[in-house]
Amino acid sequence: MNIVLLGPPGAGKGTQAKQIAEKFNIPHISTGDIFRKNIKEKTPLGITAKEYIDKGYLVPDEITIAIVEDRLKQDDCLDGFLLDGFPRTIEQADALDSVLLSINKKLEYVIDIQVSEDELIKRLTGRRICTACGASYHIIFNPPKQEGICDICNAKLVQRPDDSIETVKNRLDVYKKQTEPLINYYKDKQIYYGINGQQDIQKVFSDICSVLGSGNK
Ligand code: ADP
Ligand code: AMP
Repeated sequence: MNIVLLGPPGAGKGTQAKQIAEKFNIPHISTGDIFRKNIKEKTPLGITAKEYIDKGYLVPDEITIAIVEDRLKQDDCLDGFLLDGFPRTIEQADALDSVLLSINKKLEYVIDIQVSEDELIKRLTGRRICTACGASYHIIFNPPKQEGICDICNAKLVQRPDDSIETVKNRLDVYKKQTEPLINYYKDKQIYYGINGQQDIQKVFSDICSVLGSGNK
């Protein structure tokens, strides 16, 4: 199954991706996670990406496309993949099509998790992520069992630097200008499925599973 998770920052893509990847046994590829890992390890990619991410801007297309192209060619993607946070521009979407064509694959589902702007601001500013495994929590909507500690690996939870209110507003503007046009792009290709993201986490997941069915399209 070849899936893209679309939706604004804070919609719940990462939260849902973990469950979808597990249920359908496909790799979860989050460009945001790849950048954060590189930032943590202070690689040249991480140092460049941080300049954009901390201000709420997109990392340039040529850098992001090269990473995804390389990742999709790895063996664990042979039976499918779940892209989370990519594509985010029309140029990235066109590049994704070309890469998939070159490896004889086709995108089957674009799942768009829809959430209002007011709710996105609450979700992003209350988000806490695990410093070790990247799992996402919310101080009110999805709290860990023990405050400030990851349920999965017991590591410390922190706020992402780009989840400050000023940067969040910029990210939502960037989403509207650069990413929202992808809705019509994928509607035209008839692989677009809108999901109401403003429901509890398990209900959103079951709605996504209804779209994906048994996994055999
Ligand atoms: P994204 O990957 O789209 O940026 P996340 O999955 O990190 O979003 O979710 C953003 C925040 O909202 C997190 O704090 C998460 O715990 C919380 N969240 C995710 N889904 C829901 C939901 N259905 N209802 C309430 N809060 C949610
Ligand atoms: P995310 O974890 O998906 O919220 O991504 C965090 C940040 O990483 C974004 O605000 C961007 O700066 C950068 N990023 C993630 N994915 C992409 C992408 N596909 N294109 C450009 N920048 C990206």
